Amino acid sequence: MRRNTWIPWLGSGARAAAAQPGWACRARGRARARLGALRSFAKLLPALGAGLCACARTPLPDATGTHGAVAAAPLTPAPLTPPPALARATRAERAAPEPRAGSRGEPPSQHLFWIQVGESRLALSFDPSAFALPPAELMAWVERCARAVATYYGAFPVPELEIRLRVFDGQGMRGGRALATRPPRILMDVGDASTARHLSHNWSMTHEMVHLAFPSMASQHLWIEEGLASYVEPIARARIGWLSEDDVWKEWLGNMHQGLPGPGDRGLDHTPTWARTYWGGALFCLLADLEIRKRTQQRYQLRDALSAIVAAGGHLGVSWPLERALRVADEATQTTVLADLYREMKDQPVAVDLEALWTTLGVAWDSGGVRYTDAAPLALLRRDFVLGPGVAP
Ligand SMILES: [Zn+2]
Repeated sequence: MRRNTWIPWLGSGARAAAAQPGWACRARGRARARLGALRSFAKLLPALGAGLCACARTPLPDATGTHGAVAAAPLTPAPLTPPPALARATRAERAAPEPRAGSRGEPPSQHLFWIQVGESRLALSFDPSAFALPPAELMAWVERCARAVATYYGAFPVPELEIRLRVFDGQGMRGGRALATRPPRILMDVGDASTARHLSHNWSMTHEMVHLAFPSMASQHLWIEEGLASYVEPIARARIGWLSEDDVWKEWLGNMHQGLPGPGDRGLDHTPTWARTYWGGALFCLLADLEIRKRTQQRYQLRDALSAIVAAGGHLGVSWPLERALRVADEATQTTVLADLYREMKDQPVAVDLEALWTTLGVAWDSGGVRYTDAAPLALLRRDFVLGPGVAP
C-alpha cells in the first residue's frame, strides 16, 4: 500500500490496519464502527429485502448498470398525455425495468403532478389511491429533495425530470434508480403504508437527484458517481435544515471507514465492491473537498468544482471520460486536486488514517453525539464543511 506524501493522513497509521480484515478501526473506535455498520445495514434492509436495487448504497453484484442501462421492457402506457417536452423520448429510451417481485409495478391509474423548482420542471407520477399518505405530502417530499439539491448546486441540475413512484405492499422506500433517458427519469418504489416519518428519514430520492448533476461514466468509474451522490446527499439536506450538522458528521464518522481499501484492493478503478464503490467514492470526495479548501485558503470547495461540471453541460444524460469531468472541476477551483487525487487512488490501494483525519478536523464521537474541538489544526476548515459558509453551526 502506497504512502502518500501530499496529504498527511494518507498512507500513515491506517496502512497496517487497512491490510487486516475488519478495516482500520482502533480499539476505541470498534464499537462505534460496528454501530455505524449496523446503522448502515439497517438503512439498507428495505432494499435488501427487495432483492437488488441498484443505486441505493446497497451491495452491488458488480459495478455496472446503475444508470441508463435498464432491461428493455415495454412501458405501460400512461393514461395522461405528456406535454410535448416530455414526449421526446423514444420508446426504447422510455423502457423501464420489470417490476421486482412483490411490487405492484406501474399503477394503472397514475396521475401526473407538476413541481416547479426554480427554472426546472419536475413531472411526478403516481397513483394517489395507492398510498396512505395524501398526494400533497408525497409532492412536498419530492419538492424538498429537489430543493436540497438545487440549494447545494445553486440550481436544480436539469431543466426537466420525470419521477415515477411505484407502489409495493409495506412501508418505506426500496431505493431507486436514476435513468439517463431524455428527459432523465427517477424510479422509486414506495410502500403503500409509508408515513410522514418515512419521508422525513428518506435519503434515497435526494441521492438519485444528485446523480443528475454528473455525467455518466464508464463502468470502472462507477465509484465516482456513487461516491459523489453518497457524499453530497447529506450535505445538501443539511443546507436546507433537513439534517443537522451532527447528523452528517455522525454518518461519516460511523461509515466512512467502509471505504478504506482492504486486502487485495487494486485501487478505485479496479475494485468494484459495494464498500469501495459507495464509501470509497465518498471518501475520495471528502478528501478532495478538504484539499480544495486547504489549497485555496477556503476560497473554493468541492461544491464549486461540481457546479462547474453542471455548468459545462455535464449531467446524467451525457457520457464523459472521467478525466474530462475532473479537468473541468479542477479548472473551476484553479487547482489540480481532483486530478492529483485520482492519479493517486485510481489503480492502487491508498490507506487513509481516518482517526488522524477526524482529529485534525476536530470532530469525534461523544456519548452518541458529536464533539467538536475548535482548537484542532483544521477546525476552521471543518466549521463550514457541512452547512456552508456564513451559516452558524
Ligand atoms: Zn446512486
